[in-house]
Amino acid sequence: MKIKSISVYAIPLPYKTLGHGRVTTPEITLHDTVVGIETDGGLVGYGESCPLNPTYLDATTGGLRAALEFLCPVLIGRDPCETGVINTLMDRTVRGHEAAKSAIDIACWDLLGKSAGLPVKTLLGGAEVDGARLYNSIPMDTPQAMISTIEENRKQGITVFQVKLGQGAEPDIARMRAIADILRPGEHMICDANRGWTMEDARRVVAAASQLPPELGLLIEQPCATYEECVTIRKVCDRPFVLDEVIDDTRDLVRASADGALDAVVIKLSHVGGLTKAHEMARLATRLGLRMRIEDTVGAEIVRAAVAHLAVTVPEKSLLAAYPHPASVSLGEIGVTASNGLLSCGEESGLGFEPDTKVLCEPIQHYD
Ligand SMILES: [Mg+2]
Repeated sequence: MKIKSISVYAIPLPYKTLGHGRVTTPEITLHDTVVGIETDGGLVGYGESCPLNPTYLDATTGGLRAALEFLCPVLIGRDPCETGVINTLMDRTVRGHEAAKSAIDIACWDLLGKSAGLPVKTLLGGAEVDGARLYNSIPMDTPQAMISTIEENRKQGITVFQVKLGQGAEPDIARMRAIADILRPGEHMICDANRGWTMEDARRVVAAASQLPPELGLLIEQPCATYEECVTIRKVCDRPFVLDEVIDDTRDLVRASADGALDAVVIKLSHVGGLTKAHEMARLATRLGLRMRIEDTVGAEIVRAAVAHLAVTVPEKSLLAAYPHPASVSLGEIGVTASNGLLSCGEESGLGFEPDTKVLCEPIQHYD
């Protein structure tokens, strides 16, 4: 099987921000990118990648689409089922730009599944669970507003709440204490500062966290800007510690594990370069005795399906949670469901995605 052509589609994606320390506008329009890879046998596989605002990771829509101009031509004529070879070729062609590679890689896994007549989860090693535990993000707001959002989430069976913080020690400690008061046994609050705390803020917050009941399901995520700052805070933190933005690849994960710098890692498909690399990191994290979240930055149905197919392959005790990626725009149909706090995928071949051709109409780039 050979890649005959690659089409790139642009979809505006209105997005409600989570209001953490680095974002001030509540509603923004992000720019989603979908790639459709067509083979000489007529199969089409789909991938998707949508950078968040450019302060989050070093990825932008323009940079992603510019990288595709280098990546797509060298992939024509290659076998998309050879995902390892495809990734080697992409890494030799463009340094970094993992968000662009992610869309291509996801489309190749979709094609591998379609050609084998198997769901992607089977090709990734098989499902360990019927459904992956879901979490939801709680936008930063007043403590009472955040508690109301948690109560709404509970009605959908959600038990893991990622609480967005990062404003500063005093207001964030007030939020954390208020939510701790209403947290039930078996529920988790992951306090995510998104790199927003100074060292002093972070020390004060983790000191306050250690005063809360030890049985409380409280975790601290990405307190400060750099890996080194996080390692310093980790040494004075007695709560489980999650790293996200500063873990870019397997090398970072190995180093962080050797340094004892984390209990859990966040694996985002477009941050690490797609399903191939995310799967490698997930297997490694499991072997290293770490827990993980499986998700992406932003996305719609294709991202949701890719996240679901990878998340269910993680052993239950190693998976902290997965994210369902609700979106304001629908790209098409998928056999993935998010209900009762669980993300499940069907048995369709590949990612089970059927595009809405009214949404994916005219490509902005086409390579053949
Ligand atoms: Mg995070």
